[in-house]
Amino acid sequence: MYIVQIASEIAPIAKVGGLADVMMGLSRELILQGHKVDIIIPKYDCLQTKYLQFTPVQTSQSYFKGSLHENTIWSSPLNGDLQVTFIEPHHPLRFFERGQIYGFPDDIDRFLYFSRACLEYLAGLKETPDIIQIHDWETAAIALLMQDTRFKERFPKTKIVFTIHNLEYQGRCSAFNLDDIGFQGAKEKLQHPRSADLNLMKGGIVFADSVVTVSPTYAKEVMTEEGSSGLYEALLQNKAKFCGILNGLDYKYWNPATDRFCAFAYSAQDIKPKWQNKWHLFDELGMKRSDEKPLIASICRLVPQKGVHLLKYALTHAEENGAQFILLGTAHDPELIKEFNALEEQYRFHPDIRIVLKNEEALAHRVYAASDMFVVPSIFEPCGLTQMIALRYGSVPIVRRTGGLADTVVDVDTSKKSFKETNGFIFDAPNSEEMMAALMRAHLMWKEKKKEWQELVLQGMHWDYSWGKPTEMYMKIYTKLAN
Ligand code: ADP
Repeated sequence: MYIVQIASEIAPIAKVGGLADVMMGLSRELILQGHKVDIIIPKYDCLQTKYLQFTPVQTSQSYFKGSLHENTIWSSPLNGDLQVTFIEPHHPLRFFERGQIYGFPDDIDRFLYFSRACLEYLAGLKETPDIIQIHDWETAAIALLMQDTRFKERFPKTKIVFTIHNLEYQGRCSAFNLDDIGFQGAKEKLQHPRSADLNLMKGGIVFADSVVTVSPTYAKEVMTEEGSSGLYEALLQNKAKFCGILNGLDYKYWNPATDRFCAFAYSAQDIKPKWQNKWHLFDELGMKRSDEKPLIASICRLVPQKGVHLLKYALTHAEENGAQFILLGTAHDPELIKEFNALEEQYRFHPDIRIVLKNEEALAHRVYAASDMFVVPSIFEPCGLTQMIALRYGSVPIVRRTGGLADTVVDVDTSKKSFKETNGFIFDAPNSEEMMAALMRAHLMWKEKKKEWQELVLQGMHWDYSWGKPTEMYMKIYTKLAN
């Protein structure tokens, strides 16, 4: 099958969050299973070019605001097994030469332009994709444009799969924005129910042939008034083509036995070097080596969704109960930036605690490898990859029961499973008491039941959250659509 993946991110060259990991992992697994996969992303000026060797492939023109604009199409291998296509617009507004991926007042224009340019480029190729898979609001307009006569005629059999990684970011826009990309269809179908805005996320839900979100529990949560960020009606009306498929993790990229960012390789068969990674990281961050204290870590975007207030309680727990704590994250909201800058300053020289306000892939790998426990107190979490990475790196997850966290972590004490079938700790209510109680359960086990703890660590490392199974589920959808 010929599948085209189009998104605003791909790891490790253009990564803000889990979407980037999914683009890499799913594409790689599809190729392994024998499919032809093209990946298209914008040619940002902030790409991690050390992983790339660009070749210009062709130019193509695309429509935007009444004129045709020239784009250069580039190609590069990635990781040895992927081939990525990049679109570089020569529009005067230099949409992707801004130093970062998101966060500009004209983000709607930037990604609408990109969406139209992708279709124009694909329309000029000899081969026709069986499936175009689009991700989140940034590329949802492709589902809309496929309704227009020009693209309908060019792609009569191509089907669109729309994956929702987070329903909260919706791409609110106006009818004028859709005029800009020449969308002729029924704009009222994109009407946001609670405002005058149109909504690209809703457009993706309405117009795609299949809509997938990234875990079964999140799929249920968004099918409710409270959980749908206003899109309940749209989801309900499109229920028949909607489902949840748990994301996988790229086990080749996230592998402590071969991780190029970690000083000491280890595996479930030989876990000893994990502790050397811990000492190495402590030296790097100027923290005190201690055998007596577990290291609790968290890595996330510092946004309310991630339970940032609870992360501060996790820090307090560590300080008061003899644990060490590392938070790696970045904030964009001015209030949160202020708060976390103050915390970073407060703990700058603390022997046991570090707040690192950076987005740094290599450091993230070292934190996973060094930590004993990994806390994810999200208010909601569509899938969440950090708890899966933690499991793979022998760090025991302590998570709130929501979305994909509920689908991936099996509690040692409260699940009905035998100990051997468990992998972490879960709490229910998003409050400090419940989270601290879960942290305490983990801490006590680490301290007083060393043997069980070690077994739990190994159980997590043996867990299989690789892309094999999720890819089979996507394949079932593609095959059904293509027939
Ligand atoms: P989301 O997509 O909501 O941000 P996920 O858990 O799905 O959350 O994925 C987060 C991904 O981003 C993981 O690969 C995680 O390691 C990475 N990440 C998050 N924050 C940082 C950071 N500050 N530095 C490096 N990597 C980060």
